[in-house]
Amino acid sequence: MRIGLISDLHSNLAALETALADLKAEGCEEIVCLGDIVGYGPDPNACVERVEAECAVTILGNHDQAALGDLDTEYFNEYARTATDWTANALTDESMSFLQGLPLSVLHHDVRLVHASPLQPEEWTYVLSLAEAERQFLGFDERVCFIGHSHLPVILESSSEIRVHKFPVNEAFQLSRNARYIINVGSVGQPRDRDRRAACAWYDTDSHQVCLRRLDYDIKGVQQKILDAGLPTFLASRLAHGM
Ligand code: ZN
Repeated sequence: MRIGLISDLHSNLAALETALADLKAEGCEEIVCLGDIVGYGPDPNACVERVEAECAVTILGNHDQAALGDLDTEYFNEYARTATDWTANALTDESMSFLQGLPLSVLHHDVRLVHASPLQPEEWTYVLSLAEAERQFLGFDERVCFIGHSHLPVILESSSEIRVHKFPVNEAFQLSRNARYIINVGSVGQPRDRDRRAACAWYDTDSHQVCLRRLDYDIKGVQQKILDAGLPTFLASRLAHGM
């Protein structure tokens, strides 16, 4: 079975629609969402509605938690904090109650799904070093764990040592049966790896292949909506640079 994976949508509806359409065209029978549906972008409620309608499993992200008022945003940068306040104000009761019910970690089709990292998902730890990756491989029992959070797609492989693989774009990558993996699927709505295209991925539970998808979408339209909403200009301009 082919599963589509989306993460870090950040209220970017055009990017989300593009990712959903692509994953279905790629033959995904099911789509799962690794969190951060909201925050930064102009369409929080529409994104929540689409995720609720389309995703078999949805995980809570730190920006979702912040918008609910359940996370101290002191460590957020100024843009993230402004966007969090804007989002909290914009969310409907229906969107709030959907976000409130989301889990931090789910086992689905034998793979672990979390937003940030498996060891203590509520800590929102970034997996950006080999030392941190080594720690995080102790945080789950399954062979494969999918994450988001850093907005940087990558494949971390653990066998006798930890190896970092560049995630090939629009081309399947074969997972080894003798290794374990932490795989970051990148960000649908606010990529930060200097590639401005929306990122999402699929995983085939039979062939054990993963594929990172990079997709063009209407960035200019989203930028205009961000400005019209009165959100910080920087949140619009960064989309064009993928950072
Ligand atoms: Zn995020």
